[in-house]
Amino acid sequence: MFDWKEIVDRKSRFMDSTDDYAAASAVIIGAPMDYTASFRPGSRGGPQSIREASYGLEWYSPALDRDLHEISFTDLGDLILPIGNVSGSLELIRKACNRILGDNKMPFLLGGEHLVSLPAIEAIAERYNDIVLLHFDAHTDLRTEFFGETLSHANVIRLAIERGFVADVHQFGIRSGDKPEFDYAREHTHLHADVIEPFERLLPSLGNKPVYVTIDIDVLDPAFAPGTGTPEPGGISSSELLKVVRKLRGLNVVGFDLVEIAPVYDHSEATSLVGAKILREALLALVK
Ligand code: MN
Ligand code: MN
Repeated sequence: MFDWKEIVDRKSRFMDSTDDYAAASAVIIGAPMDYTASFRPGSRGGPQSIREASYGLEWYSPALDRDLHEISFTDLGDLILPIGNVSGSLELIRKACNRILGDNKMPFLLGGEHLVSLPAIEAIAERYNDIVLLHFDAHTDLRTEFFGETLSHANVIRLAIERGFVADVHQFGIRSGDKPEFDYAREHTHLHADVIEPFERLLPSLGNKPVYVTIDIDVLDPAFAPGTGTPEPGGISSSELLKVVRKLRGLNVVGFDLVEIAPVYDHSEATSLVGAKILREALLALVK
């Protein structure tokens, strides 16, 4: 067992989070890692920019009729990752998520590049069977390797499948990838270019199954989320994504992450702001 102070650094915190770790039922933690970014790095600043943008929002969600004061969550800050060391960083993320789950709390992980989801899903798989993965992204993230790297943000979903962490994968908003990725998806996942309609069709079948939700901000159209490493035109709007997040209410969601916000390309702060709102709605929809 470790002391959180040994592995996290907290410069600021998400609005209305408590300092009382013991009392919190959910934990926000940042993984500021972007070493495998293929096009434009910068997502290591994502967690901090989401926190700062949160102060532009209200605590109350009219759509959910719920206030952040009604739930108890803490924000530990960012993990102190061994910069440049991919496997060491992933192991620290796994260890932190494992601890959060072991303390009977729900992890809300902030990236960072999408690869940070892999150890979070691994930690979930250490405690739950038959996990359903809901993946929102412009990209399939199903490559076998990327520029010779077997651990990459471009193959995170494939790694989660091949390592046996997830039983069932549903991908939404996918509009980019190479042909072998789409061939792989036909065999191993349920891949949708659309978001709302296939998501609503899936909902009733999820019942009480343990669900992990991973949101790559580039599922949004670059008009709504320019601040990301690999923007891909033709995505959904922020209001559509927020609708989806609210509909997670009532599902047995056991882990959640939001990744790939890169504030260096986010000159209006629109992307960090939509990230903060997604996180607020996710907390209000999912924390008991
Ligand atoms: Mn991705
Ligand atoms: Mn993506």
